[in-house]
Amino acid sequence: MLPFDRLRSVENFGHSIRTPGYVFRPTHVEQIAELLNFARRQGIRMALRGAGRSYGDPHMASGHIVLDLIRMNRVLDYDPTQGVITVEPGVTIQRLWEYTLEDGWWPAVVPGTMFPTVGGCLAANVHGKNNWRAGTFGDHVTQLTALLPNGEEVTLTPDDSDFKALVSSMGTLGIITRATLQLHRVHSGDLLVKAFATPDLGTTLRELDEAKETWDYLVAWVDSTAQGRQLGRSQIHLARYLEPGEDPAPGRTLSRQHQVLPETILFVPKSVLWMFMRPFMNNLGLWATNTAKFWASRTLGHHKVYRQPHVAFNFLLDYVPNWERAYGPGGLIQYQCFVPKERAESTFAALLETTQRFRLPTFLGVIKRHRPDDYLFTHALDGFSFAMDFKVTARNRRRLLELATTLDRMVLDAGGRFYFAKDATLVPQHAAAYLGQEALKRFFAIKAHWDPDEVLQPDLYRRVLRPLKNKVKV
Ligand SMILES: Cc1cc2nc3c(=O)[nH]c(=O)nc-3n(C[C@H](O)[C@H](O)[C@H](O)COP(=O)(O)OP(=O)(O)OC[C@H]3O[C@@H](n4cnc5c(N)ncnc54)[C@H](O)[C@@H]3O)c2cc1C
Repeated sequence: MLPFDRLRSVENFGHSIRTPGYVFRPTHVEQIAELLNFARRQGIRMALRGAGRSYGDPHMASGHIVLDLIRMNRVLDYDPTQGVITVEPGVTIQRLWEYTLEDGWWPAVVPGTMFPTVGGCLAANVHGKNNWRAGTFGDHVTQLTALLPNGEEVTLTPDDSDFKALVSSMGTLGIITRATLQLHRVHSGDLLVKAFATPDLGTTLRELDEAKETWDYLVAWVDSTAQGRQLGRSQIHLARYLEPGEDPAPGRTLSRQHQVLPETILFVPKSVLWMFMRPFMNNLGLWATNTAKFWASRTLGHHKVYRQPHVAFNFLLDYVPNWERAYGPGGLIQYQCFVPKERAESTFAALLETTQRFRLPTFLGVIKRHRPDDYLFTHALDGFSFAMDFKVTARNRRRLLELATTLDRMVLDAGGRFYFAKDATLVPQHAAAYLGQEALKRFFAIKAHWDPDEVLQPDLYRRVLRPLKNKVKV
């Protein structure tokens, strides 16, 4: 029924989930409409895919169609005086800043890597390290157009009630085909950064909280191997935009050349660096690197203030291309939770202790400060997020799932939430517990209208949302 030569192995970002899918890569809206028609008639389901940078399965549809939108990557309109840009969904964050930074415009919200697409960022409603100050990606969109599986096309602005459902719906309601973004005015290609180390979790959270009104960006890199009184010790990076006049040569710092990441690190070409990292991806290597990183920041980088290009600060992980391959053939998953500020310290401490007790310590731990928003599938709240990367092997897969379910219960007990862009392990009842009946009711009501034949059924939808359909009264 589907052409065999379209069959590919489709992977998540962490290479820990692989499924076969029939991949189509349209360049025009008309081709999407045709495929939607075809899928509807044939009863085939479909997942949408941007750059495939999600950690779980929202961009996969095992044995069915994967609509890869990466070739729909045209800039349709740009006003360099106002910083307003209209793009197709396959335009990446990298292309966006490369296009606009020279004019003094930077995307108001960016995730921790520059490779995701605008479509993917809207579907997940991504946040940056400036979530407290700047909100989410969707907050900076003035208009978007989507093709719906029922054949209709909708153009929505933030005033439309369905805008905040489509944004955050993880490709389950409609296909975003164009978006207009308001960019953020910057007066320099550099940020002012302050780096320092904290001795424990309580101090880490307090420092982030106290910095939230004065610094634009806040992030803590957690030493996840520290225990006892040092549990949760971290390296904190705070950053703020420069004011007009603070940068004596903005023409230079706003240039692409100033932003691009170096080709070599310690004389090693960055393209092969991940191979050098692989031997350290075990519990001993993890302890050694985390401890070394912490003491380097405690001594060399303590209370250091310096200027750093936007790209280097925001996309630190992009310094090492394919770093995720260092995790080995089983790949990695990420577990990210969001916990109200009052419960964050005790909950994060318990999470860290639990990962250590399971002997499945996290390889990379990141804490950020968030503010709540009212998107339908919002992940944010007035509190902190904790993202933890775990190595997956054939032997630990089952225990990892057990660990994730245990952590889920602790997060839910604390009134916390989860994030579909990072999720690979949630079970339906835990998703229902954090999303709530009202959000699910509204979601299935919109789905029934926009996608009555359930064409848009990524694996995430099958795993987590669809099982809840009959439990929710629409
Ligand atoms: C190293 C790294 C760091 C990250 N840091 C952050 C971070 O700091 N903050 C954060 O919020 N996220 C972060 N992420 C997650 C990432 O930003 C999101 O998963 C994002 O959605 C990926 O976009 P993508 O283009 O790769 O989309 P994909 O991963 O391919 O797809 C994501 C979702 O978007 C849907 N989709 C794609 N295109 C469209 C479209 N045109 N219309 C409708 N739906 C569509 C897909 O169906 C899917 O549900 C990070 C990811 C990585 C790998």
